[in-house]
Amino acid sequence: MAGLYIHIPFCVRKCLYCDFYSLPKRPGAAAHADGGSFIAALAREMESLPEDFAPETIFIGGGTPTELSDRNFAALFDLLKRRVDLSRVTEWSCESNPGTLTREKIGIMLGAGVNRVSLGVQSFDPKTLEFLGRIHSAENAAEGFRLLRDCGMKNINLDLIYGVPGQGRGALEESLQRLVELGPEHVACYCLIFEDGTPLADLKVRGIVKEVSDDEELGQYEIVRGALGAAGFSHYEISNFAKPGFECRHNLLYWSGGEYIGLGPSAHSHWNGVRWGNVRDLAAYCRNLEAGQSTRAFEEKLDAEAKARETLVMSLRQIRGVGREEFRAATGFDYAELCRDQLTWLRREGLIDDSGDRLRLTPRGLFVSDGIFAELV
Ligand code: SF4
Repeated sequence: MAGLYIHIPFCVRKCLYCDFYSLPKRPGAAAHADGGSFIAALAREMESLPEDFAPETIFIGGGTPTELSDRNFAALFDLLKRRVDLSRVTEWSCESNPGTLTREKIGIMLGAGVNRVSLGVQSFDPKTLEFLGRIHSAENAAEGFRLLRDCGMKNINLDLIYGVPGQGRGALEESLQRLVELGPEHVACYCLIFEDGTPLADLKVRGIVKEVSDDEELGQYEIVRGALGAAGFSHYEISNFAKPGFECRHNLLYWSGGEYIGLGPSAHSHWNGVRWGNVRDLAAYCRNLEAGQSTRAFEEKLDAEAKARETLVMSLRQIRGVGREEFRAATGFDYAELCRDQLTWLRREGLIDDSGDRLRLTPRGLFVSDGIFAELV
């Protein structure tokens, strides 16, 4: 199984915490001036897709895909219709943000065959939204959700953030309650990260904002797990929750070591054992494609062991973990041999459970997964 990812490098403005590659709109401008040249460059990059690449999932992310003008948004879907055999595609997701979602945009998506929309709500607490630098209100988010439903979208994900300075447990619980009342099929709930180079990290360095303590983050993670579990969502990945049958297939492909190709500036790919990433620069991306040159910022071929370790780490993101035989069949390695010393230590610390013939993170391990993965790769 293979997946296609497309990165749309535009946003209305940058959120305080955002580390994704996207360009804010010029103040007062109705649309991004370089939207058309991006679509033209994307069309060229799409021509370079391997002949035998036949994705079963598509994910259009960013950035904010719905920040494209209606014309460019429709052109994006036309490109896909021309190049991809859509009869093979079982899940086609598109990200959106409240404040950029219109009936016209939803019509374009539904007309093309998009069957899942991910809406970046982040919080229903006005103070939290303001702190994060979001462009929308809680009401805009609820309106966006209802508009999607009115138009017939049957599979909707809502994104939420916890661990935000100043957002107490009460505000988080209220956000979770409002989210559950809307009735999405899927929820992605992330802990706020102070990524280097973001304005948020800068505020921390200057002593203006303080990170939430680890204990408080863990407490909030437990609140999220409890509230979504009680509402009938199954917790199937560290940060992801789904109603039965609505797990995100595209992300499951990443988490099971599947192959994918990413198009657009900063997009990553893993195809035929080679991993690469495109330049994080829209102008260079467009220029290179126009000149018939590579858009890759790096490229590496993973050896069998490195690939096995990466598959292990990605698989452990899933709550069900990975079976020993399943892992051996996929990679040719036995994880108990491959990571013997690390697993001994992680078991002693109560961070992994390898009883039976499965390896999975414990609830405590889930919360410190980044550190565990750094040990295992
Ligand atoms: S809307 Fe999303 S991609 Fe755009 S700046 Fe905010 S967090 Fe980043």
